[in-house]
Amino acid sequence: MFAISDTGGGHRSAAAAIIAALEPKYSVQCTIVDFLRATGFPGLKQAPEIYDYCSINHLWLNNLFFRKTNSIKRINALTRMIYFQCRQQLEQELDNIEPDMVVAVHPLVIGLLRMLRQNSNATWPIITVVTDLVTLHASWATPGADLYLVPTQEAFHSLVKYGIPGSRIIHTGFPIHPKFTSNQVVQSQARTELNIELDRFTILMTGGGVGSGNMREWVSTLEQECSDKQILVITGNNKQLYNELMNSPNVSDRLHVYGFVNNMETMMSASDVIISKAGPGTIMEGITTKRPLIITEAVGIQETGNIDYTIKRRLGYYCPVPKAACKIINEIAMQVHDDDKLYTHEEIITNGSMRIADIIFDQLAGVQSIKKSS
Ligand code: UDP
Repeated sequence: MFAISDTGGGHRSAAAAIIAALEPKYSVQCTIVDFLRATGFPGLKQAPEIYDYCSINHLWLNNLFFRKTNSIKRINALTRMIYFQCRQQLEQELDNIEPDMVVAVHPLVIGLLRMLRQNSNATWPIITVVTDLVTLHASWATPGADLYLVPTQEAFHSLVKYGIPGSRIIHTGFPIHPKFTSNQVVQSQARTELNIELDRFTILMTGGGVGSGNMREWVSTLEQECSDKQILVITGNNKQLYNELMNSPNVSDRLHVYGFVNNMETMMSASDVIISKAGPGTIMEGITTKRPLIITEAVGIQETGNIDYTIKRRLGYYCPVPKAACKIINEIAMQVHDDDKLYTHEEIITNGSMRIADIIFDQLAGVQSIKKSS
């Protein structure tokens, strides 16, 4: 069982990536559960909607929640309170699934899982997969998981600082979906699939699952300042932005607007440059596709470290001002570059989902042998 929350698109994407690596290789059955929704607890059960609302309109609320709860003590107290209110619903969920293992792909589920396991005398291991790259909220270090799999060395050190023993942490890399690494289509093929111009410099703009960041302003500046370029805009779940862009009277035929897409690998392959907020999933997918990144902003404190992470390794640019970004894009367009040499970094692991799948399977094999011998 993969316990996630549909806050943004990253947690579900990460779980789906691990499952895509796991299922074809091993005979394992996987289920994804939005565990915060399953609590039925007011506020938590609407976590995706609240996250969407705050990310688009009231980021300060997200950041306030981050700051006020950023301590293991407070998270433990909150978890205990929620657990005693929602115990029955969560037990029911687990009874339905009867998992052999639980993979926590959201920090707020770790403590709930630990208490459920403890109070039901269950033995399923808990493996936490951390999806933030650098700025980890204390809740990722909630004690009780058997293993903590982290995407970066920075995340490793952060968990150690919070008190998780190093022996329980493995640096696996970020769980990037295998579709970004295997069968990667070449640029011309991707453009053909998308039915866009084959020879035109192409900018991809995305704002994560929520479609956050000031995308409306970005698109109109891009249209003015990069008028000879093709622009692909992914609005994700932001229906208002989608409708605004689709109904805008002056859009050029070089602007292509998409809602929530399930072919991000094709969209990225088709592009020459990717503009995005500092979402960890999008950054790692962009790096894997070897496209230069232009990071517009951190949507939430948890994304702040991702900007430095990208810049330090020369994988992209941080540029919150749309006009200045257009200048960078026009410069990139002038350079002759070899996609295979640029915008990769040897230290970055791009087969994280495979590594995580192997670890999960090893742990499951341990569970099965214990079950057989007892
Ligand atoms: N994504 C997608 N379709 C969309 C928009 C986003 O599949 O229309 C995926 C994207 O490929 C990435 C994830 O959603 O895997 C976004 O994760 P990220 O960590 O960048 O940001 P979040 O949405 O979690 O804030």
